[in-house]
Amino acid sequence: MNTSNSPLTAIVTGAARGIGLATTQLFLAKGYQVAMVDRDTEELHRAAQGLHNVLPVDCDVSDESQVAAMVQTVLGWSGRIDALVNNAGVADFGPIEETTFARWQTVMRTNLDGVFLCSQAVIPALRKSRGAIVNIGSISGLRASTLRVAYGTSKAAVIHMTKQQAVELGEYGIRVNCVSPGPVKTKLSMAVHSPEIISAYHDAIPLNRYGSEAEIGRVIVFLASEEASYLTGQVVAVDGGFEATGVGLPALRV
Ligand code: NDP
Repeated sequence: MNTSNSPLTAIVTGAARGIGLATTQLFLAKGYQVAMVDRDTEELHRAAQGLHNVLPVDCDVSDESQVAAMVQTVLGWSGRIDALVNNAGVADFGPIEETTFARWQTVMRTNLDGVFLCSQAVIPALRKSRGAIVNIGSISGLRASTLRVAYGTSKAAVIHMTKQQAVELGEYGIRVNCVSPGPVKTKLSMAVHSPEIISAYHDAIPLNRYGSEAEIGRVIVFLASEEASYLTGQVVAVDGGFEATGVGLPALRV
C-alpha cells in the first residue's frame, strides 16, 4: 500500500522489447515509475527514449554482482520498489540429443538463475513496501513438448519457484505469482516459430490465435497491483485456452 508521496516503482526485466516493453507501458499508464532492465543496451535505450518516469538499467540478470548493482541503482533513483517482474528470458529449441550442456546452461542461467537472483535481491525493499513479484513462466512449463528440454524445464522450475517464494515470503506481506503466456509474436518466439509452427498453434489454441504483448502485460500489472492483494502462489496461463485443452485430438472436434 502506497501511503507516501513517492510514486509506486516497478522493476521489469527484459524491458527493451516484447512483453517486457508492453508491461512497462501498462505500468506507466497506471502511474508507476519503471526501472527498465535489459542486457541489450542499444535497444533498451531506444525503447526508453520518449517514455517518461523510466530508468533504463543495463544488467544481465544472470550475473549476481550486476543484479546487486542494478537494485542499488534503482533504489538510489526511486527510494522504493513495489513490484518486480522477472520477465527476461531466452529460448532454445532443439532435440535432446543436440542440446549441449552449454546450451542447457545458457537457458538455465537467464530463465532460472536470473529469477532467483533478482527476487532475492529485492526482498529487503519489498518487505518495506509489502510489494509483489510476478514471474514469467510459459505454457512450455505447464505442458511438455518436443524440442524444448531446457526451455520447458526452466519454465517448469520458475512455476515451482513461484510457489516456494509465495509460501516463504508471505509472512513479510510479499505476494508472488506467475504468468505463463501462450505464444506471442516477439523476437524470442519468432526466432524459433516457423510458419508451420505458427499455423499449428492457431489450430491447437481454442481462441485460434497468438496473444498480444499487452494481453499478457495486463495480467502481469494486475497481479503486481493492490487489486490482487489476496492472490499469491498462483500460476495464470494467459494462453487463449491452450493449457485447458487436455486430449484435444483434431478427430474429436465438432
Ligand atoms: P523478447 O525476446 O521480445 O524480449 C526479451 C528481452 O529480455 C530481450 O531484450 C533480451 O535481450 C532480454 N534478456 C534476455 N536474457 C537476458 C538477461 N540475462 N539479462 C537481461 N536481459 C535479458 O522476449 P518475449 O517478450 O517474447 O519474452 C518475455 C518472457 O516471456 C520470457 O521469459 C519468455 O520466455 C516468456 N514467454 C514468451 C512467449 C512468447 O511466445 N513470446 C511464450 C511464453 C513465455 P536479448 O535480445 O539480448 O536476448
